[in-house]
Amino acid sequence: MISREEIRELAQFEADGKQECALSFYFQPQTPQNKSHREEAILAKDLVRHALQAVRKDGKQNCARADLQRILKLAEELHGNQAHAKAVFACGARDIWREFDLPSQMRQTQLFVNRRFQLKPLAMLLGAHPKLAVVLVDRHRARWFDMRLDQMVEGEAMFHSLSRRGRSDGYSGYDGGHSERRTSDDVLHHFKAVAARLKDEAEKRIWEALIVGCLDVNWPDFEVHLPPAVQRCLLGHFPAEVATFSLEQVKERAQAVQEEWLQNRRRQSVKEVLSYAKSHQRGVTGLRRVLRSLEMGEVRTLLIGENYSARAVECDSCGHLDSHLIAYCASCGRKTRPLPDVCDAVIPRAIQNDVELLYVKDDPGLDKAGNIAALLRFRAERGAQLRQVS
Ligand SMILES: [Zn+2]
Repeated sequence: MISREEIRELAQFEADGKQECALSFYFQPQTPQNKSHREEAILAKDLVRHALQAVRKDGKQNCARADLQRILKLAEELHGNQAHAKAVFACGARDIWREFDLPSQMRQTQLFVNRRFQLKPLAMLLGAHPKLAVVLVDRHRARWFDMRLDQMVEGEAMFHSLSRRGRSDGYSGYDGGHSERRTSDDVLHHFKAVAARLKDEAEKRIWEALIVGCLDVNWPDFEVHLPPAVQRCLLGHFPAEVATFSLEQVKERAQAVQEEWLQNRRRQSVKEVLSYAKSHQRGVTGLRRVLRSLEMGEVRTLLIGENYSARAVECDSCGHLDSHLIAYCASCGRKTRPLPDVCDAVIPRAIQNDVELLYVKDDPGLDKAGNIAALLRFRAERGAQLRQVS
């Protein structure tokens, strides 16, 4: 599975424009019910052939041809009935070929030849699937699961034997004899041990988000032991029978919690950004202001309408992006280059700077505000920058 470091490395890549090209290929297998298996594979081959013709016309065939041939060969081997989608990023001139299996949730099979890798489909997928820990807890057991994209693996469980703690180990000076009290001490000890392991893992960044499966009756007694570092990562909890739940059941419940959390987060973020932008607090809307905030390093979360696209210009010398289609850079005065879609430049920058990316589907509020907006970490002094830009 693709890691955050790998995607950041892809985001940093930029072809020099003459000798080099960045190729991005996404292959989405068709579900057997919908269409014949072969169709997606045929479509993939057509896309490659079409791209080969296009680069020939552009005079860029030297840089892209070998990579396209290799993708064509790969497409011929894909039969459309495989379980996973695939992403390939290639630049032969720099000896780059990265191939990843992804959950088969891509919208469609696509191929791009550009200066940068096309990371939007990947960013959409990864943004919706943080590296997740799912922990099932009851009064003396805990089961651990790792979930990345659609793959779940069960890890080492914890088991706190009730009798083991019957012998006094000096805990609170308690020396046995009262079984009820002993049981509740045991449970407390167990919950604290589970919370401690979670804290340790959160600090080591073993995962980015957490979901807990726990009977409702136990939840309040367990939750109070979760330290703030763990609470911050908690997406939600679901009722679960620790002993009997199968891996499939855990996965299904966790995915439902995650989906609900994501929908709330999108809704809440749009609401926040619209109200903050109105009151000139930590939020901006519209491409011009978003680009300025990105340049100033203020952006914490970027909200983009799912089908958003806009033209812009980019300065090759200083990297300045401008929503006005000006021929000379407003920042350094050199010549600019047109960008058919500003997202091609914005998304890699957001990934490199650890900006959270949220894709928002059909939100009338965001639509009215230009379909692009940002929540800010802080708001820098405007004076100097305003003079420079205007
Ligand atoms: Zn410039």
